[in-house]
Amino acid sequence: MKTEFSLAQLADPDIAEADKILRACVHCGFCTATCPTYVLLGDELDSPRGRIYLIKEMLEKDRPPTKEVVKHIDRCLSCLACMTTCPSGVNYMHLVDQARVRIERDYSRPLGERALRAVLAFVLPRPGLFRASMIMARLGRPLAGLLPTPKTASATPTLLRRIKAMLALAPGSLPAPGPAAGSVFPAIGDRRGRVALLQGCAQQVLAPRINQAAINLLTRHGIEVVLVRDEQCCGALTHHLGQDGDALARARANVTVWQSEAEQGGLDAILVTTSGCGTVIKDYGFMLREDREFAGPAARISALTKDITEYLAGIDLHPSSQQGDVTIAYHSACSLQHGQKITHAPKELLSKNGFVVKDVPESHLCCGSAGTYNILQPDIASRLRDRKIANIATVKPDMIAAGNIGCMVQIAGGTSVPVVHTIELLDWATGGPKPELKGPGLTRPTLN
Ligand code: SF4
Ligand code: SF4
Repeated sequence: MKTEFSLAQLADPDIAEADKILRACVHCGFCTATCPTYVLLGDELDSPRGRIYLIKEMLEKDRPPTKEVVKHIDRCLSCLACMTTCPSGVNYMHLVDQARVRIERDYSRPLGERALRAVLAFVLPRPGLFRASMIMARLGRPLAGLLPTPKTASATPTLLRRIKAMLALAPGSLPAPGPAAGSVFPAIGDRRGRVALLQGCAQQVLAPRINQAAINLLTRHGIEVVLVRDEQCCGALTHHLGQDGDALARARANVTVWQSEAEQGGLDAILVTTSGCGTVIKDYGFMLREDREFAGPAARISALTKDITEYLAGIDLHPSSQQGDVTIAYHSACSLQHGQKITHAPKELLSKNGFVVKDVPESHLCCGSAGTYNILQPDIASRLRDRKIANIATVKPDMIAAGNIGCMVQIAGGTSVPVVHTIELLDWATGGPKPELKGPGLTRPTLN
């Protein structure tokens, strides 16, 4: 794609990066076929190619984003299916990230929407506040039923519709908090390794059992696990809202504490059980590339970061075959398959450890969770969830496995089939307890 940035514009490293990305696009349109919003809405401007044109115009002309541009960028799930499909290696992720920052900086959203985004950005990365807000939201759920439901699904939802979607996500009950930051779980038997485990934000409130399963499995296989003190939210939530100041501050704070832990106790890896977070931490090196102090350490932290299944693929697990014949529909989270290109490891681990694993048709399509997308774009998110659940139903699973809490909550909202994390199944297969099939937050009635 031909670009016309001025030399002055190209002196800005972000614009230089955007220029490189835009020039790689040959506008072939292959990406449109696998873009969930294009598949649903059929509008070129809701396809990757259409959005690339809109971003190019906005950056090249250096003008504030228009309402139309914001509408189509907001509808993008950042699922990155387009990056998997693109034959030219266009880095859409770095382009749309930059567009979101520009929108956040230069576009004035309506007051109610600004307030909602500010609340999400403030509450979600803080587990204590998130827990309190979930309890409040649970009390508010009866009110959600009174809020009007639009007759037809809208791709430009009202504030009330978004509030209703937010209340619908509140679980019926919350589990007790998991282990505290700073805890160290020694290896059982000879120590073969030492890892940090990302504590996460929403996941540690909704389903601490996921990291508990990871700790159980890892220590049972000789790996010491540390929950690093003063670790923060990875920054993914605010990064995807275009609030880069907050996201970069969190990235720097995490790089600092993980680097210190690696220097003091030694770390073979930083493990992540929430693939949405893993994708962003693996991008810290890029996000902080212009920061003289942090560029090098951030790149090292990114290189040290692994999805839990990526790490386990290099370890001999000891299956105990206690679970019998269980058919698993494996839901491949977008952040895992498109963001991190991890497609085979989770399925291979599950099948090697005794599960019957089924691929879900249209597995490249997002389930509609996408961070805060199911709150901000509830109608598109619901349509994607229903499509995902219909596809899952065709393989008649006993359970659904996924590697991302957002997908788990989203899918569980529309099916009675138990939804569990891949690590819970692997823990079970190697001597741990059977996953709780009615975990808080993961089976709930939906108000959508
Ligand atoms: S597939 Fe790649 S090169 Fe083709 S239009 Fe999409 S982003 Fe551009
Ligand atoms: S990230 Fe997903 S929703 Fe956004 S343009 Fe790419 S395929 Fe479409």
